[in-house]
Amino acid sequence: MWLEPRDPRLLQLGFSLLFLLDMALRVAGDLQLRTGPLIGLVLVPIAWVATLSVPWTRTPEWCRLSLLVFDIGLVGLSRLDPLGGSALLVVVPALWLGFAYGVRGAIVTGVSTVLLVMVPGLLYIGTSGINVSRSVTTTVIAVTVSLAIANAIQRVRGGQELIELQRRVGEAILDTVDVGLVLLDGNGRYLTMNRRHHDFMRLAFPAGHRGQAGQLGEVFHEDGEQLVQHEDMPTYRATQGEEFDDQLIWVGSDPLTRRALSVSSRVVREESGRFAGAALAYKDVTDFMRALEVKEEFVASVSHELRTPLTSIHGFTSLVLERDDLPGQVRQQLGVVARNVDRLDRLVADLLQTAQVERGLVHLDRERTDIAALVRQSIEAARPVVDGAGLTLASRVPKHLVVLVDPQRFSQVVDNLLSNAVKYTPSGGRIEVDLSVTHDRVELVVLDTGIGIGVRDRHHVFSRFFRSRRAAQRSIQGIGLGLSITKAIVDSHGGRIEVESEEGRGSTFRVRLPLDVPVERHLPDPTPLSGARSR
Ligand code: ADP
Repeated sequence: MWLEPRDPRLLQLGFSLLFLLDMALRVAGDLQLRTGPLIGLVLVPIAWVATLSVPWTRTPEWCRLSLLVFDIGLVGLSRLDPLGGSALLVVVPALWLGFAYGVRGAIVTGVSTVLLVMVPGLLYIGTSGINVSRSVTTTVIAVTVSLAIANAIQRVRGGQELIELQRRVGEAILDTVDVGLVLLDGNGRYLTMNRRHHDFMRLAFPAGHRGQAGQLGEVFHEDGEQLVQHEDMPTYRATQGEEFDDQLIWVGSDPLTRRALSVSSRVVREESGRFAGAALAYKDVTDFMRALEVKEEFVASVSHELRTPLTSIHGFTSLVLERDDLPGQVRQQLGVVARNVDRLDRLVADLLQTAQVERGLVHLDRERTDIAALVRQSIEAARPVVDGAGLTLASRVPKHLVVLVDPQRFSQVVDNLLSNAVKYTPSGGRIEVDLSVTHDRVELVVLDTGIGIGVRDRHHVFSRFFRSRRAAQRSIQGIGLGLSITKAIVDSHGGRIEVESEEGRGSTFRVRLPLDVPVERHLPDPTPLSGARSR
């Protein structure tokens, strides 16, 4: 209230008290109060009571201005004493005039002090040197004080306006971006958020939000079904000092209006390194997620539909090929048909499986399996192709190694790695397959001396539909799905797959599976490498 320029009550109280103090000190100093100061003494309390009864916020401007000029007049009255009295009280209304009216107030101060303090004083007391000096000094001080406060206030207001302007510009910029933005303080309280995020908040917290990080609401995991728990809420993670990218959440429970958001968080620290808060960005990826869903459903259903006619073509071709009375040329042509149907069948199977992997559907039927036997079967199955391609294949596989895996999936891993080794190794090259076991894991290594993979491509070989430049240049057939499926199978067994490779020198794929449930182990064959070579 006391810094409200439109309400001069506090000012008037201070002025009145100082005036009364001046009078009291004069009386205490045995000074006889003259008519002027006495009139002032009567008017001061009247003026104070009057200010209390005025509704200042609704009063016209000239009333306030008149009160301040009136105060200067009171100072003029207090000076009407042969000794000159104290005129410095004029500083109080001068301050207020400068504060409330700026430079205009300083001009009013100057004019009023000259007319109401200086001139009456000179007329009453006389134009002695000391009186002239006091009158002039009082006026100059009053105007200076008024100007100084006007200037200071102008600067403060200018600064505030600039800060306010900057704040509005900042807000306007944040509101134009299509990303929800939130700023949390060190205690996890919401400091600010942009307009876009208000929309997300309404979806996530239809019952309202208390402005504290970690509040539970209609926030779901990537699957869109499981509710996100307190410790997984992005805002809670951010207040724990975590920095992350692309946490996918769904907000809202209505399937028609819910949105998929990809959330990133960055920590804000003080200079000392203390956690001061966090900034979170929520990117709307709903359209992308829906498009992905449609694509996956499309691939899955098309692959499924393709399989039925393919199975039929495959079956009938095999039946015809079993006949003894086929002319040689027809048999040869049907062989081509059969091989291409096989290829198409594998392709469709890969596509179907990829669609399932994308939907998190790597279903495993684990059972005690002699994986050494499976590896040997895969090698035997690959041998005709290996021979046909003019490659050498050596292997080191234990007699038995029984572990808990999905046998079909495990064979798929070995087959994929082996067929790649054959496909990407030119004639005359070497392939090695090594299966071993340590105290806590099984390791399968498939090595080749083929075309290899460049450094830049190596990071992408496990991505869907990726093909290295060398593979594409050499027109080696493939669509880039085998390794991504292989990785998904290995991952779902809790294992890891890695590749070491050098362009032009060959590749080594290493699969490691944890041996959680070792059932039976047998040491590797004493013979180091059993090999076969043919053209
Ligand atoms: P595809 O073989 O059908 O293209 P994959 O997913 O099995 O698909 O392999 C992805 C890519 O990785 C291949 O296109 C090839 O560029 C590279 N690649 C895989 N295995 C090897 C290998 N043994 N030697 C060289 N490049 C390989």
